[in-house]
Amino acid sequence: MSRNDESPSPRADEAPGPLLAAARAARAQAHAPYSRFAVGAAVQDEHGRIHGGCNVENAAYPQGWCAETSALAAMVMAGGRRVTAVAVCGVSDQPVTPCGGCRQKLREFAADDCPIWIVDTETVLGTHTLGALLPFSFGPEVLAPKLASARYPPGGPSAGGPAEPDARREA
Ligand SMILES: [Zn+2]
Repeated sequence: MSRNDESPSPRADEAPGPLLAAARAARAQAHAPYSRFAVGAAVQDEHGRIHGGCNVENAAYPQGWCAETSALAAMVMAGGRRVTAVAVCGVSDQPVTPCGGCRQKLREFAADDCPIWIVDTETVLGTHTLGALLPFSFGPEVLAPKLASARYPPGGPSAGGPAEPDARREA
């Protein structure tokens, strides 16, 4: 497995139990009759609330969607607008990390330092930051910097808002 550890990774012993439990519980709800590949995800919002989601397939295969997408939709419907932590639960020979599309979807609401916990039904398999999974990313502040600064609290990435452009991005 290739690693991109430019961003500091969260420590495994800091694993947020309720978040991981929510991702595992969401996986149990997956509608995956075609792939038989159930995935659950959970996101924690700026209020500390946890929102779960599962993958939802349908007979027109490409029209299905991912667990992370479901979790983000649940968060938005509940009024959450910032993701402070993510957990993804899948069972495979390899750790199940968010697909490329979901990394971008998470980027809409999460900062580069947002931890993403990768788990199966019993163990923590790895932790990454969003910045490590999606480096040099394109986010909402690129399109509307004034909107982004009004939308998120001052303090930049440490406050949980989208990351400000930095030297690494500009290099
Ligand atoms: Zn996905």
